[in-house]
Amino acid sequence: MLTYSYLGDKAAGFCQKPQPELVEDTDALVRVTLSSICTSDLHIIGGYVPRAQKGVTLGHEAVGIVEKVGAGVKKLRQGDRVAINVETFCGECFFCKRGWVNNCTDKNGGWALGCRIDGMQAPFVRVPFADNCLSRLPLGVSDRQALFVGDILATGYWAADISEIEEGEEVLVLGGGPTGICCALCAELKGVRVSVSEKDEKRRAFIAANYPFLRALSPEEAESLFPRLARGGADRVIEAAGGEDTFEQAWRLARPNAVVTIVAMYESDRILPLPRMYGKNLVFKTGGVDGSKCDEIISLIAAGRLNTLPLITHTFAFEEIERAYELFAAHSDGVMKVAVIYAEPE
Ligand SMILES: [Zn+2]
Ligand SMILES: [Zn+2]
Repeated sequence: MLTYSYLGDKAAGFCQKPQPELVEDTDALVRVTLSSICTSDLHIIGGYVPRAQKGVTLGHEAVGIVEKVGAGVKKLRQGDRVAINVETFCGECFFCKRGWVNNCTDKNGGWALGCRIDGMQAPFVRVPFADNCLSRLPLGVSDRQALFVGDILATGYWAADISEIEEGEEVLVLGGGPTGICCALCAELKGVRVSVSEKDEKRRAFIAANYPFLRALSPEEAESLFPRLARGGADRVIEAAGGEDTFEQAWRLARPNAVVTIVAMYESDRILPLPRMYGKNLVFKTGGVDGSKCDEIISLIAAGRLNTLPLITHTFAFEEIERAYELFAAHSDGVMKVAVIYAEPE
């Protein structure tokens, strides 16, 4: 089958591989119906993910149909439509039992798909620990509605959760790209006012048009607004921008005793200037996704409370994925996320 794979040395390309087979009896083979491209794919190609294996099939955001299950798979059967989790996890180790599935200690645990084992930019994928890592989709939830459940929506949901948001608070999300928007949508479910600081005017206009209940601000507007609030800053800040100065903005715009959650993956170190923040008594959390609540996310989509359909701004056939990568990497033509579709088998 044709796959889109990481070739090492800052390159990716089409690569023929045999169709995957079940290896463990807890595996499932899934026929991919829709996948996407994530900034993390670009990070792998750019050489910023040391664990990524040269030759691996890229892609860790997808939905599909279960083609085959191992004898140990209990919850799924052939023909089930599923969202695939970015993280595969054993469900039994110290970390999994606490929902911290990104740190699952199994050799196939954590973010393995599309990084250390073959991912979803291919017509078929082998998913380890299928009972834990595939979420069945109800009839009323389409592939397009569920495309981001296993990765950027899981990220947003986890970030909102660990930020300890309480009703009535002011939440500031830095970054109005797809991940920032998912963080904002999940925070908003908690009954709070959510602002999104985004430097790109087109992205602010996108938020205003599609999610008018979010307050879209330029970084300058956020700088001027938050210090003037009654508590001197945002109650919770979620940093999903990953810019040169957004880490500093995150803690500066937080009120004393706020929680600052870092979702962004930086390409270089950031400085924690403790003398300058002394007395502010901030709590910092890092929110590298733990995709342990996908079923809850699907229920919210089914209930009409979470809608990421507007994020799919472009659709490509799998054979055109190189064009999709170019567009996504260049942020051109107002792209937020791409959907990649796969031809039905004969
Ligand atoms: Zn991702
Ligand atoms: Zn585990």
